[in-house]
Amino acid sequence: MPPKQKNELYKESARKKDVRTSNIEAAKAVADAVRTSLGPRGMDKMVAAASGEVIITNDGATILQKMTVTQPAAKMLVELSKSQDVVAGDGTTSVVVICGALLKKCQELLEKGVHPTIISDAFFKAAAKACEILEGIAIPVNLEDRDALLRAATTSLSSKVVSQYSSLLSPMAVDAVLKVMDPARPNLLDLRDIKVVSKVGGTIDDSEMVDGMVFDQKAAKSAGGPTRMEDAKIGLIQFQISPPKTDIENNVIVSDYNQMDRVYKEERNYILAVVKKIKASGCNVLLIQKSILRDAVTDLALHYLAKAKIMVVRDIERDEIELISKTLGCLPIAHVDNMKPEKLGSAALVEEVEVGKGRVVKITGIANKGRTATVLLRGSNKLVLEEADRSLHDALCVIRCLVNKRFLIAGGSSPEVQVSMQLGHWSKTLQGMESVCVRGFAEALEVVPYTLAENAGLNPINIVTELRRMHAAGEKYSGINVKKGTITNMLEENVVQPLLVTTSALTLATECVRMILKIDDIVPVR
Ligand code: ADP
Ligand code: MG
Repeated sequence: MPPKQKNELYKESARKKDVRTSNIEAAKAVADAVRTSLGPRGMDKMVAAASGEVIITNDGATILQKMTVTQPAAKMLVELSKSQDVVAGDGTTSVVVICGALLKKCQELLEKGVHPTIISDAFFKAAAKACEILEGIAIPVNLEDRDALLRAATTSLSSKVVSQYSSLLSPMAVDAVLKVMDPARPNLLDLRDIKVVSKVGGTIDDSEMVDGMVFDQKAAKSAGGPTRMEDAKIGLIQFQISPPKTDIENNVIVSDYNQMDRVYKEERNYILAVVKKIKASGCNVLLIQKSILRDAVTDLALHYLAKAKIMVVRDIERDEIELISKTLGCLPIAHVDNMKPEKLGSAALVEEVEVGKGRVVKITGIANKGRTATVLLRGSNKLVLEEADRSLHDALCVIRCLVNKRFLIAGGSSPEVQVSMQLGHWSKTLQGMESVCVRGFAEALEVVPYTLAENAGLNPINIVTELRRMHAAGEKYSGINVKKGTITNMLEENVVQPLLVTTSALTLATECVRMILKIDDIVPVR
């Protein structure tokens, strides 16, 4: 019967519309949650987990990652922020805010009856054009130009809780990245070569870059072993100095003292033999990898090691091994028979020192040190320290972006306004619905100046209007000077950011919007 069919058809398309609308609504809600933390005057968030853990942060990726989001489309925004964190490291709030604004535009366009595929295609074109425009206004930067790198790091830190320490943290970030970068192969830069050790106590001002290496743990001294070693020969071992265990669960029944003595002696001889081999290699500082199979080192072993005057640092994490061996120029040793002098690293001094409330082991004067860097972060409490760590990470990523793509653009929403204006002009050369959609895309980008102004307590409408006027008059670097509450030339204010951060934010946000648009049904499976 035709009438019924028609009715069902209608129901079907109404449901698809509903799914799309609810997806967009949910994603927009997530974007709204982080909107107020954009920019230097943005607010910070206190994230309280059910476990009682509390963190204070301004970083979009961190806020979203900790948020309990269940709606599938909203989860895509969390992922979006994560991808921006991977690609660029900074701009994790911006990407979500832009995505939210684009989604809002989609809603308007959908209500006008534009088909989702047309919107999606037009947005794709608009994003590509936007990146082209950004490249047109970008300023090339030379890695020798330390000031430029410092300015970019400072801009990234300016929106953080720890922004007042940016004069200390920015040079640290720049130096650390330049230290681990191989000038011959800059694109192989790996931020994991930078070790950040956080220690509670003191203030962030006490943070320092250590020329050498720092271990978060103390030296093992329960058996009276040394805690300071000059002219150190360092061995990094992955085997255990403890009695071997049998493969299967079994019991050994000891029935008299003689037998007990034998077991004990056997164990002692075994450990003694291992310690002797270690000593014979000339090793006097031992870094022992954590072990899950059996004790990495027993009290008895510590006793003999102390007697042999070997300093011991235990609980080295498996994933630290590579960094340590790179830094110290030593090779990890998997079996005691491989303890050879050529596998050891040497350093002028290994010493346990007091830092704040705790103690750390510091290695300095490393002979032929590899391309790694160590930063010792300090802070008065855990909350500040963790946020300092995250902020430093952002600054490091900003410098990495500049190594990978050596262009800077002005900040303070000047690129977004410029792109919005140029896209607006471009849309006039297009036909039909495409033109409408591109114009929508252009308008959506104004969310950045709008939000920055709003967060700084300025009148957003006045500011955005004024910005449009300035950019139309050819002032392409005009942006919001949040400190003075006016519009100024952002280059003169030294507010600059890597091109890569903004282009990646635009492309990733667009990609996410297109994905959400194309979903017309949610299929729950078990
Ligand atoms: P994100 O997590 O996206 O990096 P931020 O809170 O760091 O978010 O804010 C970034 C935005 O703030 C960018 O648009 C940047 O241009 C702007 N911004 C940063 N520093 C300043 C400044 N000193 N004056 C004006 N705008 C700034
Ligand atoms: Mg930032």
